[in-house]
Amino acid sequence: MKINRNFDNLVESYLFAEVASRTEKYAEQNPNKKIIRMGIGDVTLPLPTVITEAMKKAADEMADINTFKGYPSYEGYEFLRNAISGYYDSFGVKISTDEIFVNDGAKSDCGNIGDIFSDDCTVLVTDPVYPVYVDSNIMAGRKIIYARSDKSSGFCALPDKNVHADIIYLCSPNNPTGAAYTADQIKEWIAYAVENDAVILYDAAYESFITDDLPRSIFAVEGARNCAIEFCSLSKTAGFTGMRCGYTVIPNELERDGHNIKKLWYRRQSSKFNGVSYPVQRAAEAVFSPDGQQAVRKNIEYYKRNSKIITETMEKLGIEYTGGKNSPYIWITCPNGMSSWEFFDYLLEKANVVATPGEGFGDCGKGCMRFTSFASFEATKEAMDRIAKCLDGRSYFLR
Ligand code: PLP
Repeated sequence: MKINRNFDNLVESYLFAEVASRTEKYAEQNPNKKIIRMGIGDVTLPLPTVITEAMKKAADEMADINTFKGYPSYEGYEFLRNAISGYYDSFGVKISTDEIFVNDGAKSDCGNIGDIFSDDCTVLVTDPVYPVYVDSNIMAGRKIIYARSDKSSGFCALPDKNVHADIIYLCSPNNPTGAAYTADQIKEWIAYAVENDAVILYDAAYESFITDDLPRSIFAVEGARNCAIEFCSLSKTAGFTGMRCGYTVIPNELERDGHNIKKLWYRRQSSKFNGVSYPVQRAAEAVFSPDGQQAVRKNIEYYKRNSKIITETMEKLGIEYTGGKNSPYIWITCPNGMSSWEFFDYLLEKANVVATPGEGFGDCGKGCMRFTSFASFEATKEAMDRIAKCLDGRSYFLR
């Protein structure tokens, strides 16, 4: 037998292992130092009770012969798909219930969607990039090309008419750069996709962090229904990283190569996926209730307050950054021309703060650093104060 040799082409990511190893080594050698982690990519606030109560009630139903549920439908319970459709409606986007597929998180479908496309397809990703898009397509043996997102484009890469792609991954607001596309920029990608008969795979996992007047869904932009699939997640929106629930939207009219894409996806899901558990779907439904929305907004505002402290510090220090306003990520240009790892070591040793070196996300991340807003408010304040003291000798927040 032979294994899938495409796995040989995966580049081992040393990023988080290297961050952990340098941090551990420093902690061992300096046991009295209190290290603050500003690289956390996971949420830290617990689930609101309106959500856990819905889950508990659903668990009780599972214990009663009259309300017990077996396998859920492949595409998710209608009550949840209706709630998601209503959520889109709340920001002016019409998505019908039958275009929504509930899943166990955006990561799975961002990779699994490749099952319905030929391995000959060329995949375009922006650089720096969320590594899942790259690795899942390398596993399938697809050719990958990169669109550079750098300072010159505000970290919002735009299409190059001279290159061809069949599949285009866009992530807005972006992980890791925090940059978010405008409607006009998305229009350029839509025009490019139509020209190339391509499909845009749009990752909107951080849409709930958008506060500026920017599209929260690709389907808010004209023309997207004929060329795009959207992935969304409750992980960061509602603290569901440990619950596992998201959704994929495929417009009814999306066709390629003589096939209806939604039908193909249904066929794929019914062969390889048995749905999301009933209690989790009830908990997800509660996210979209008025009380649920109020509670999850409160948590998002907590993270956004942290973002503000980070961006204010960077502004005072004269350090260039993107993100923070419409995203939980703040992407900075390392000061004094330091490389990502040089600045990582500097922050660890001088401020005892850990952030994520940008070059771990791609070539365009060289010389950049990613901060996240998921630490506690107190830790964020202290971390920024320590960085400010190191870089300009002043304390901004701890008075
Ligand atoms: N998409 C992006 C851009 C992410 O950053 C993440 C998580 O970090 C995901 C998707 C994964 O989401 P989920 O937890 O729903 O699988």
